[in-house]
Amino acid sequence: MTSHLQTDQFTQKIEAARQRTEALKQHVRESPCGKTELMALSWAELQTALEELHVAEEELRQQNEELIATREAVEAERQRYQELFEFAPDGYLVTDANGKIWEANRAAASLFGVSQNYIVGKPLIVFVAEECRRSFRAHLTRLRNASGVQEWDVLLKRSGSKAFDAALTVAAVGDTRGNINLRWMIRDISARKEAEEKIRSYELENLQLVEITRLKSQFLALMSHELRTPMNAILGFSQLLLRQPQNQLGERQANMVERIFNSGKHLLTLIEDILNFSKLESGNLELNPEEFNLVETVTDTVEELRSLATQKHLEIHVKCDRDNISVVHDKIRLRQILINLLANAIKFTDVGEVWVEVYEVGPNKVAIAIRDTGIGIAESDLENIFMEFRQVNHFLTRDRSGTGLGLAIVDRLVRMMNGDISVESKLGVGSTFRVELPRKVRILNL
Ligand code: ADP
Repeated sequence: MTSHLQTDQFTQKIEAARQRTEALKQHVRESPCGKTELMALSWAELQTALEELHVAEEELRQQNEELIATREAVEAERQRYQELFEFAPDGYLVTDANGKIWEANRAAASLFGVSQNYIVGKPLIVFVAEECRRSFRAHLTRLRNASGVQEWDVLLKRSGSKAFDAALTVAAVGDTRGNINLRWMIRDISARKEAEEKIRSYELENLQLVEITRLKSQFLALMSHELRTPMNAILGFSQLLLRQPQNQLGERQANMVERIFNSGKHLLTLIEDILNFSKLESGNLELNPEEFNLVETVTDTVEELRSLATQKHLEIHVKCDRDNISVVHDKIRLRQILINLLANAIKFTDVGEVWVEVYEVGPNKVAIAIRDTGIGIAESDLENIFMEFRQVNHFLTRDRSGTGLGLAIVDRLVRMMNGDISVESKLGVGSTFRVELPRKVRILNL
């Protein structure tokens, strides 16, 4: 605008100088005055005209410089945008409203696996996989009337390679001549799609696994129940037989019945363990909290197992600073934890003693520690012992019967109670199992 105005002024000035020269000529032709006078007049006019021309020339030069600077700035800006377009990490295209490509950046060319020159002039649809062309056409038609940015996923063709999933983002932009052109951004999303596909298949696998686990637990629970009923009959009747006077059975028969009874008891323990574990696994085990004195319960449980320790000439002690530690817990399950840990302590100790300590940990937690002077557990085995069916130290433990389920049950019960179990052990020295529990159990679903 300014430069246009300045050009007009400059033209006006030249015109004024020209008119002055014309007027001077006319004046010379018509002038009655003498030659010298005329010369002086003409000279003065010429001087003025020349000065004006100088001024105009200077203005023109300045204008020119400004014009060159503006043009350079515009060019630098254009260059910057061209580079942004050219080297953008995503594919960019400019097409007309029918999808014919006018411009394509490097990323777009490499996405299609062709050169930039090859792309220009081609309809974009030739790079769309056949199965997606119908919907692409429909989108294109809608785009001509739509405003704002549109996005959709499509399968694009890559020369010499298989089709890939791409996300298209497109905006319709009107140019100065009123034509619509389309600005496209193309992004290869095949990695994302693959990851989504993988997640879907993992989720499916997971669901299948959950279902298999549920079925397995259901089967185990059912089987254990079915096994328990006849086992109770075997135990009951063999106990009855054992109560018969010796002469009625004979020593050999009595011995056999006793073995039936002992094996039956062992089998029942295994069945109970499996039943408990499968209940815990399938989430069918519920906690029933009640208020009781933890010290009393621990002492009673220890007394129940004392005979086992005495048979092995082991000392067993309970240690607690207080007579009463009141807790709100599932007493049956807490006893189950204690019995498992105590039975293990006795089973895996041949000489020495077993200590049970009960104490408070701050106002909201209680703890029970069971310490023995038994065979101990190697450090490398410590992390495995809470897994189901794990028995370690085979050479030391092979004559000690068990299922390898006891600690797995204890671990799951403790977790269900929102507590913690830890173990410290040294081979040949002994082990300490420490269970920390909230004073009040909250019912959690595992
Ligand atoms: P098990 O029925 O074999 O006792 P558990 O799950 O109760 O199964 O214990 C797993 C294994 O951990 C045992 O076989 C034994 O090797 C080891 N273990 C558990 N408690 C002790 C302990 N107090 N001393 C030494 N080893 C132990």
